[in-house]
Amino acid sequence: MTATRVLVLNSGSSSVKYQLLDMRDGARLAVGLVERIGEETSRLVHTPLAAADPAKRERTGPIADHGAALTAVAEELSLDGLGLDSPELAAIGHRVVHGGLRFSVPTVIDDEVLAEIERLVPVAPLHNPANITGIRTARALRPDLPQVAVFDTAFHTTMPEYAARYAIDVETADAHRIRRYGFHGTSHAYVSRETARLLGKAPEDVNVIVLHLGNGASASAVAGGRCVDTSMGLTPLEGLVMGTRSGDIDPAVTFHLMRVAGMSADDVDVLLNKRSGLVGLCGDNDMREIRRRIDAGDERARLAFDIYIHRLKKYIGAYCAVLGRVDAVVFTAGVGENAAPVREAAVAGLEELGLALDSGLNAERSDEARIVSPPYARVAVAVVPTDEELEIARQTFALVAGESLE
Ligand code: AMP
Repeated sequence: MTATRVLVLNSGSSSVKYQLLDMRDGARLAVGLVERIGEETSRLVHTPLAAADPAKRERTGPIADHGAALTAVAEELSLDGLGLDSPELAAIGHRVVHGGLRFSVPTVIDDEVLAEIERLVPVAPLHNPANITGIRTARALRPDLPQVAVFDTAFHTTMPEYAARYAIDVETADAHRIRRYGFHGTSHAYVSRETARLLGKAPEDVNVIVLHLGNGASASAVAGGRCVDTSMGLTPLEGLVMGTRSGDIDPAVTFHLMRVAGMSADDVDVLLNKRSGLVGLCGDNDMREIRRRIDAGDERARLAFDIYIHRLKKYIGAYCAVLGRVDAVVFTAGVGENAAPVREAAVAGLEELGLALDSGLNAERSDEARIVSPPYARVAVAVVPTDEELEIARQTFALVAGESLE
């Protein structure tokens, strides 16, 4: 029997999320998470979904580094006969946040590719180092196995130059590789394709605005399956209001704060990435809590929500203009999939753009991809759960097996 399994690894600075999938049908065999790596209170939670007893298993206690974390994951997988030494494992797929201009497609990792991912650390200092650690660790454990990098930026490399460039001095921009790369690309690719499927059309035949609203949030305009604009830029800070990030802001705020408030570049970095967005505005970044506070009459929570929605509306309008014709506006990720009030507020008043909601459908809870607009709406409004792990597994498997079995 040929190898049909793919292990997907998403390595953060102190965590590793993983899923083992069988690409014959996309089934998840095991999922898990190692968190607080390097601390005394590390924790591994493993769920062997395909095992006779699919109950969660948990380990607590110090896990020193990513090497130890992955070794522990491999041990857990072995307990269910799914170890990394299994001949059925076809590849390991790694989520890599920044692929720069070079990586527009999933890529088998060799020393040269790894060196190039390292050269991108200056433009992704928060993310790429952790991804690199995960890759090194996995390669050490299974040097013979294909390891594939799937880049968050890749889907956006089709953006036309006029959407990707900032209007700044070209020589300075090029010398420092400053341009709009965009992120969440794996999600935007998956969700725009699933939306076409939901509409019963080929991806080439639909224009879609994807709103990925999680703790991080980004919008993209996808024309015929290709991204033509996206809201995140050089880093994941630009664009929509997020859980802790400001999104769009006058860049002069940065040097104003440095001159007037005596803040360093690092101080402003922390302010805009960690102490802004919904948290900065009202102290909470969980949309459930913000809605609860609004219902209780909290004005700060209300204002935070209104600012969030106002920005979202501006991007919907902008991307209608960018695309010309829009077939669907689709909501995804934690907020987009679950927060009916966010969808309702974002679409309210956009009838002239062809958008409308069926409030009954919008209020229904479901894990399925679904249309929540009335049949007469010119533009469908949809909710499509994202699945970045499945997309990474599919792309990884398609590359190493030269085909997709699903
Ligand atoms: P993600 O980054 O995609 O995992 O999304 C995480 C965010 O989704 C959380 O910070 C919450 O704000 C939001 N979220 C999750 N579940 C719900 C829910 N039932 N209603 C509203 N927001 C939710």
